[in-house]
Amino acid sequence: MCGIVGYIGTKRAYPILIKGLKRLEYRGYDSAGVAMIGDNGNLNVYKTKGKVDNLTEYCSDKDVTGCVGIAHTRWATHGEPSARNAHPHYSTSRNLAIIHNGIIENYAGIKAKLQANGVTFKSDTDTEVLVQLVEYIMDKKNLSLLEAVQVALHQVIGAYAIAIVDKRDPYQIIAARKQSPLVVGIGDSEFFLGSDASPIIDYTDKVVYLEDGNIAVIRVKSPNGENEDEGLKILSILGEEQELKVKKVDIDLGQIEKGGYSHFMLKEIFEQPECLQNCMRGRINVEGDNVTLSAMIDYRQQLLGAKRIIIVACGTSWHAGLIGKQLFEQLCRIPCEVEYASEFRYRNPVVNKDDVVIAISQSGETADTLAAIQLAKEQGAFIYGICNAIGSSIPRATDTGTYIHVGPEIGVASTKAFTGQVTVLSMLALCLAKERQTISDELYHSMVKELTLIPEKMEQTLKTNEQIERLAPIFTYAKNCLYLGRGYNYPLALEGALKLKEISYIHAEGYPAAEMKHGPIALIDSEMPVFVIATRDRLYEKVISNIQEVRARGGRVTALVTEGDQQIQKFADHVITLPDTLECFQPLIASIPLQLLAYHIAVCKGKDVDRPRNLAKSVTVE
Ligand code: GLU
Repeated sequence: MCGIVGYIGTKRAYPILIKGLKRLEYRGYDSAGVAMIGDNGNLNVYKTKGKVDNLTEYCSDKDVTGCVGIAHTRWATHGEPSARNAHPHYSTSRNLAIIHNGIIENYAGIKAKLQANGVTFKSDTDTEVLVQLVEYIMDKKNLSLLEAVQVALHQVIGAYAIAIVDKRDPYQIIAARKQSPLVVGIGDSEFFLGSDASPIIDYTDKVVYLEDGNIAVIRVKSPNGENEDEGLKILSILGEEQELKVKKVDIDLGQIEKGGYSHFMLKEIFEQPECLQNCMRGRINVEGDNVTLSAMIDYRQQLLGAKRIIIVACGTSWHAGLIGKQLFEQLCRIPCEVEYASEFRYRNPVVNKDDVVIAISQSGETADTLAAIQLAKEQGAFIYGICNAIGSSIPRATDTGTYIHVGPEIGVASTKAFTGQVTVLSMLALCLAKERQTISDELYHSMVKELTLIPEKMEQTLKTNEQIERLAPIFTYAKNCLYLGRGYNYPLALEGALKLKEISYIHAEGYPAAEMKHGPIALIDSEMPVFVIATRDRLYEKVISNIQEVRARGGRVTALVTEGDQQIQKFADHVITLPDTLECFQPLIASIPLQLLAYHIAVCKGKDVDRPRNLAKSVTVE
């Protein structure tokens, strides 16, 4: 959650910070702020409620000089979104300013103690407690900023990525992380900070991903020669110097810009055929009939020995997990459970040594999923990650895994990451099934072949865009919508409903179509749009009966059907036609019209599709 940017060097910090904030705005955007040590030595903090544009407008007549600064876009956890609670936060003396991503869980106790010692607070945030604590320790114990940060971090419980500046030493930024991501970019006599590499890649491709519990001391030379000490030092919380692991980032700038589309979400929906090709490249052979995953070669024993698979994930990734469960059970005959990471981590689950835990997360930073991994690890399970962001925390915390390789996903409502995750789960299930001999050679080869045809079929499906754009205004009046599907299409019904909720703010529910008669059918009337995924598969006839049940109660049905279907048109108000594929790959195709529906309905309603209210892209807080 939230975006952190920092700069120290010889250039003006402000434009670099603002550009960086815009790159990170998808992570949180209820307020934004900057702190710079100006040319006159003042530590100037400016912050506003709302998006980064509000901040730049506010700063238009302010002193934004200085070559060192930190900046933040917030996703509030403690204290309402307001200018007062926005970051950076000053310490009482206004010598220090801090930005923070995460939650200081024991902030209330620390705050009470500081208040008892006369410290007053300006905000309701947990973050301000940390900067006040650092200042209190500096003053009380006569310690340097670095020493005081080390002492303070020993006292706090929770998750953080922080950056602090001190106006008395304008040649230094101190940063630290625990459970929240932080990257340092190394330039020529200049350094950058970012929650991910996207605000940094314009300037350098050399980065250091901070590890949990590490503190970065970033210094540059002063022009007057009084400070000669320049460079990046990584220390443990106890002060031991750590090896500097410099990595090269190779994010293509074009990948994180809109490329002619009106929203990132639309761009990302349309990118899916190419993304899935990238996801399969090097994993499915050129003949298109065999899958090889390096994890399967390196950890064959552990994976083949799995008595059970537990998938832990949140949100859209959890829906992908539900599809994974059906794949693992159907193809590999391995029992599989799918858990919300946030529930799993707190309910003392039974995890065995021969369980394989698959953690799915687009950002690779999802706090609950990371904690679930930790718990499963402690109980001896083998951990497999399925993530998108290279080098993020989850791939580093797992035993092995597979990147989905769909490129940076900026739209807050996940699209291409979902289909990438389902593709990786499909490849993994096929590999495992082959090795376990739970699938015939013939079926295996034909399934792999069909998987390679999905990008082409997605391309064809994207042609429904115009039809869906025309249909969308019909649904803008709706207060509630129902999504129905069965089998592999049930998780997709959940995902379709989630997309609509996220960006159009229309309440929607996904349901297994046959369950409808056990409750939700009571809601159906002519005001309730019902979207049914009714592709031709084992359960097709059953789904037709479910459609009839809806129609009999005056419900208005939009059906997603397989090309050539003549039957459903008779009962449905609208029909969207999809290319045929195997039942288990149908979600890859049918997700496209559902994404497009949510997108166009939200656009018709005038909603901010890429920055829906209350949401953030990567949920790095509990
Ligand atoms: N917990 C902090 C706050 O509410 C930081 C939230 C964030 O990560 O943006 O201000």
